[in-house]
Amino acid sequence: MKIINSIAPMQSFAEALRLQGKKISFVPTMGYFHEGHLDLMREARKMADCLVVSIYVNPTQFGPKEDLSKYPRDFDRDSKMAQDVGVDVIFYPPNEEMYPENYQTYVNVEKVTQNLCGLSRPGHFRGVTTICNKLFNIVKPHVAVFGKKDYQQFITIKRMVTDMNLDLEIIGLPTVREADGLAMSSRNVYLKENERVSALNLVKSLKLAQKLYDSGERKSSRILSEVTGLIKSAPYTEIDYVKICDATTLMDIDEIATQAVIALAVKVGTTRLIDNHVFGDPLNT
Ligand code: AMP
Repeated sequence: MKIINSIAPMQSFAEALRLQGKKISFVPTMGYFHEGHLDLMREARKMADCLVVSIYVNPTQFGPKEDLSKYPRDFDRDSKMAQDVGVDVIFYPPNEEMYPENYQTYVNVEKVTQNLCGLSRPGHFRGVTTICNKLFNIVKPHVAVFGKKDYQQFITIKRMVTDMNLDLEIIGLPTVREADGLAMSSRNVYLKENERVSALNLVKSLKLAQKLYDSGERKSSRILSEVTGLIKSAPYTEIDYVKICDATTLMDIDEIATQAVIALAVKVGTTRLIDNHVFGDPLNT
């Protein structure tokens, strides 16, 4: 496995592969790997001749009061895990190269970023689309793999790739969960033991929403009131949002008539967790 920690060598490596007719798959990450990341890597490995994984905690997607400085990092652990799943290249660039002095260009996807996390994390998706655009230009992948755990991010990246005519395919893979159902996240390490118990109510509430849907309920307000009740019943929880949206436009809907997603963001203790479920999809727990 190669570790490339500068932009120019990454670009020439990718260009050389392309000239040889080789296919490149790509998994962008912020590191501190868990099974969710590894699952994306294993799948991406099968899709191409060369799998590149980036590890970069992107400052432009964090708000001023968010956890940028304390975001968990462990490069040595990550590189061992990456090697074990067959990653060919880790791209690990420094901030000074990604955002040099006088940096001033950003990519903004307008509509699908407005609702959900867009409301509580202004500027977050602008940071995400900007960094992904830059990484796509550096890694030159044919296919990039994202987790649907960050559902709004996945929809936003797909929109950007379509709108900007970027020549790559975006694949979304299902959320990987702990044995008890908690969606895997690098931020789960922040949870204290009793908070971790409360955090389980997130997936329980998604299951409850699916159960209500299965029994024929289609009114968002009825599903949402049961779901919020269940989340609030757990200590240490503070709901940021729980919403039912059209699965493509991500606009709120009153009635579930098209494909719909229930998405939630909840602070458990001081840790903000997100989860979601597309009605009718399997809920792997
Ligand atoms: P992050 O390092 O948190 O930015 O995540 C990097 C990639 O891994 C993103 O595409 C995420 O959606 C994906 N990811 C994070 N957690 C999970 C999970 N539990 N299951 C599947 N994919 C995930």
